[in-house]
Amino acid sequence: MCIFCDIIDGKIPSKKIYEDENVLAILDISQVTKGHTLVMPKKHCRNIIEADAETVSQCTEAVRRLTKQIVENTGAAGANVLNNCGETAGQTVDHLHFHIIPRYTENDSITIAFNPSEEQDLDAVLALVRG
Ligand code: AMP
Ligand code: ZN
Repeated sequence: MCIFCDIIDGKIPSKKIYEDENVLAILDISQVTKGHTLVMPKKHCRNIIEADAETVSQCTEAVRRLTKQIVENTGAAGANVLNNCGETAGQTVDHLHFHIIPRYTENDSITIAFNPSEEQDLDAVLALVRG
């Protein structure tokens, strides 16, 4: 059972912002800021790692268009576009989705902090990441 598949199938009501053959965008039920939106593929995939390239492209193109639309129509100053991949990263619904969170001020009710970790050997990190 997947709550977003149930929304896509119309079994659970939602506030639809955009829909096409492949993608659905709805208002997040907990509006972190006014206009907080979720963009998801209609095809169930767990996360961005497991999704196929076409599905991710369809979503990111919708994210691109909707971020522009939402920022323009709400009068926001900008937006955070966010994907949580995996429970440790904060993913609570295991159906791929992207958050669009309009930002009105730097003190909005969202905190994203890039706290530096211990110093890293960048060449070692590069080798690790490149594989
Ligand atoms: P994440 O933590 O990235 O998996 O985000 C899941 C998001 O889904 C949260 O921000 C929830 O508020 C949102 N959510 C959960 N259930 C619903 C629902 N029925 N309708 C709209 N948004 C939902
Ligand atoms: Zn699903």
